[in-house]
Parts: sequence; C-alpha cells; structure tokens
Amino acid sequence: MILLNGKSLANEIKDNLKEEISSYHRKIGLAVVLVGEDQASHLYVSMKKKATEYVGMESISLQFPEDISEEKLISEIEKLNTNSKVDGILVQLPLPNHIDSNKILEIVSPEKDVDGFHPYNVGGVLSGLDTFAPCTPVGMVELLDKYEIDIQGKNVVVVGASNIVGKPIASLLLNRNATVEICHIYTENLKEHTLKADILVVAVGKANLITADMVKEGVVILDVGINKVGNKIVGDVDFDAVSKKASYITPVPGGVGPMTIAMLLKNTLKSAKRRDR
Ligand code: NAD
Repeated sequence: MILLNGKSLANEIKDNLKEEISSYHRKIGLAVVLVGEDQASHLYVSMKKKATEYVGMESISLQFPEDISEEKLISEIEKLNTNSKVDGILVQLPLPNHIDSNKILEIVSPEKDVDGFHPYNVGGVLSGLDTFAPCTPVGMVELLDKYEIDIQGKNVVVVGASNIVGKPIASLLLNRNATVEICHIYTENLKEHTLKADILVVAVGKANLITADMVKEGVVILDVGINKVGNKIVGDVDFDAVSKKASYITPVPGGVGPMTIAMLLKNTLKSAKRRDR
C-alpha cells in the first residue's frame, strides 16, 4: 500500500508557485470574503491567508458581521469584481441563513471565480473546458497524476454528490475517460457499488462509512471526509482495515485536505495570467 501524500505534494506545488510568482511582473491579489463568526470558517480563512502570503500573493481579507444584508454583501462583491488588484475572489461558505448562497456565488465574476462555484464554471467543467474547477476535486486529480495512477477506462465510484466535491470530481474523471458512478444517501446497497471501484472517492462526512468488506483488493482510495472522533480527525474510510486491501490511499489528515489550498493558489495565478493576456 502506498500513501498518497497530499501534504508533501501541496508543499511542492506551493514552492513552485512561490518561485514563479517571485518573477511575476506585478502583485497578484486574492480576496477572501468572510461573513459571521463560524469558527471553522475563520480557521480555513486564516490558513488560506497564510498560504497566499507564503507564495507571495496579496491576501485581501473582507470580514463582515453575521447580520450583513444580502444587498450590502452583493455590492461589496461587485466592488471586488471591478477592482483591478483582485485576481481571485473566494466567498467562504457557509453563509448565514438569511443570505442566498447560490445568488452570491452567481455575483462573483466567472473570470475571478477561483473556487469554481459560479454556474458558468460549473458548466465549463461539465463540458470539459479549461475553466476554474473546484479546488478539492482538482487537487485529487493532481494527486492521481503525481502517483501516475491510470484514470482512463477505470471504474470510478464517487460516494457523496455535493456540488463542491462529489459532482465535480465525477465530471473531471469522466472527462479523463473513466467510467463513473455517483452514490449518495439514497443509493441502495452501497457495498454493491463500491465493490466495483478501481478508484473509490468518498466525500460524505461519516467516519467509518467505508469498511474493508466494501472494497476490492488493489483499490485506490481518495478519502475526502473530515470527521472529529474524540480529539482525532479521521476520514470516511476505516483506514486501518481498508489500507490493507488498497494499493493507494490518502491519509486523513495529510491527504486530500492540503491539496485544496494549493489548488486555490494555482487557480489564482491562472486567473492573473488570463487577465494579463
Ligand atoms: P455534503 O455534506 O454537502 O454532502 C454529503 C453527501 O454525502 C451527500 O451527497 C449525501 O447524499 C451523501 N451521503 C450522506 N450520507 C450518506 C450515506 N450514508 N451513504 C452514502 N452517501 C451519503 O458534502 P461535502 O460538502 O462534499 O463534504 C463531505 C465531506 O468532505 C465532509 O466531511 C467535509 O468536511 C469534507 N470536505 C473536505 C474538503 C477538503 O479536504 N478540502 C473539502 C470539502 C469537503
């Protein structure tokens, strides 16, 4: 079994970006919009800020109170859309209940949508265009490529059908000629599906959802789940037992997670280059 080391690959990517950005002819800016006091969101935003500054980009943080009106938030994002110093815009989710997240994601200019959540970019991913794809799934594809794991013709089973992970990873792997199946909470007899997987992606948020009897020998596992069990962070896969059958597996933490921020920075550089064309 080989561990898919996302932490070291993410560091390698960030160092390469840092070098490229050091000779870029202008400062590249990534704006992060944070609403409210959600602790996890604050943690993610501070990690993103740290990584943005590490690679030499400017981190532009906008923090708003929980009770900001939807109208005011829209006008702030519109300002970022036209601000020439801003190459990428990220709206940290979740937003408070009184704000329609879909509406907000549509306001972000598709050209600066480095998170790949605007419907224009969602459609672009589905059509196989070179567009901004969501960072977590792109990071997973980079990991597979780094370890030279074949995708074409393989049976991929994706468990979890969210807009930010499950659906886009299914599209990206379909675009690479895999045979893709998507499972979700209403899927009957999950095991019947997961047993067919050459590559199994699990993005649900339930510790130990995938047990050793549910996978075949030699499977490649991408475990996206983040679950707190006691004071430990674990994925959705019963790592100890499943890793004995897998050929490759992502650890949690240190697998898929670290790749997300690296891909965000990569998308931001891509946006800057496009804007400078
Ligand atoms: P979500 O919560 O939006 O959706 C969960 C999906 O799992 C749904 O499609 C649901 O139908 C499915 N599901 C729920 N219970 C199931 C079951 N028993 N069997 C099969 N399917 C089931 O998911 P999300 O936002 O994609 O997040 C999933 C997990 O991935 C979470 O633990 C989250 O923290 C983690 N995550 C990690 C990263 C990262 O590492 N960078 C990024 C995003 C999400």
